[in-house]
Amino acid sequence: MLTYPETSREVLLEEESLRDGLQNERRILRLDEKVELVHLLAAAGVRRVQVGSFVDPRRVPQMADTDALVRVVRAALPQLLCTGLVLNRRGLERAVACGLAHISCSVSISDAHSRSNVRRSAAEALESVVGLVSTAVRQGLTVRAGVQSAFGCAEEGRAPEDSVLEAVRRLAAAGAAEINLADTAGMADPDQLRQLVARVRVLVPEVRLSLHLHDTRGLGLANLRAGYEAGVRLFDVAAGGLGGCPFVRDAAGNVATEAAVHLFQGLGVATGIDPGRLHTVVARYQELLGRTLPAPRDR
Ligand SMILES: [Zn+2]
Repeated sequence: MLTYPETSREVLLEEESLRDGLQNERRILRLDEKVELVHLLAAAGVRRVQVGSFVDPRRVPQMADTDALVRVVRAALPQLLCTGLVLNRRGLERAVACGLAHISCSVSISDAHSRSNVRRSAAEALESVVGLVSTAVRQGLTVRAGVQSAFGCAEEGRAPEDSVLEAVRRLAAAGAAEINLADTAGMADPDQLRQLVARVRVLVPEVRLSLHLHDTRGLGLANLRAGYEAGVRLFDVAAGGLGGCPFVRDAAGNVATEAAVHLFQGLGVATGIDPGRLHTVVARYQELLGRTLPAPRDR
C-alpha cells in the first residue's frame, strides 16, 4: 500500500475525478476515454486512482464499465494503485473478480443522507458495511473505510463527533487499513476538522487516516491545510475540481488536484505530481465534458 509517515514532508493524493467526479456528469464517458484519462493522470505523477464504483449500472450508468476499466488499467499501469468503491456484497464480488487488491467501502453517519442514498438508516447501513469490510479483509483485500457526512449534512447540520468516532471504531475493528473522513456536503471548517482528526488519531492510532473534502462552501483548501497540519498525509482530490455536491445544485466539487498540488508546493511538501502535465488532464476533461471547469487552470 502506498502510504507515508505522518512526519514526512510528502503527501499522497488519491485521484477521485473518474468516480466522484464523473458520477453526476450527464455525458457518459466511453471506456477508451476513461483509459486515456488514467494514462494522462499517471503521466502527471498521480499514483493512486479510484477509477470507479461497483454499483448498479441502472442507477449510475456512468460507472457501468468499472470492471472493464480496472482490468485495462491493472494490465497497462501495474505501478499505479488502482482502487474502486464497493458498497455491497455484489460490488465486492465484482471487485474481486476483476482482480482489485485495494477497495474503498463507505457509509454515511447522517440518517437523512443514508436513507436517500442507500434507503437504510445510518445504523443499519453501518452494520452492513462493517460486515462488508470484514468479508473483504478475510479475502485478502486492503480496505479503506469511509465515513460520509463526517462533518455534517444539509438536513441534520453538524455531525455529532461521538457518532463519527463510533463508526470509525467499528470500521477499524473490522480490519480497515485506512479510515477516510468525508466532508460529503462540504460543511467542515478548519477548527472542526482539526478537532475530529485529533480525536480519530487518538482512537485508532494504528490506522491510516485520509480526508475527502468538498469545496461546496469554498473551504476545501483551508480544510486540506488544516488536515495536513493535524498530521494527515493522504487526501482525495479531483482534477478540475470535478464532483459537485449531489445535495447542492451547481456547487463546487472536490478539492481540485491542481489547487492541492500548488498549495503543497508552496509549503515545500512533495506530491510527486507535475502541475504542467496535470493541466493536460484538466484540458482533456474540459474537451470531453464540453464545459469549462471552475478550478484554477494556470500552470
Ligand atoms: Zn465526494
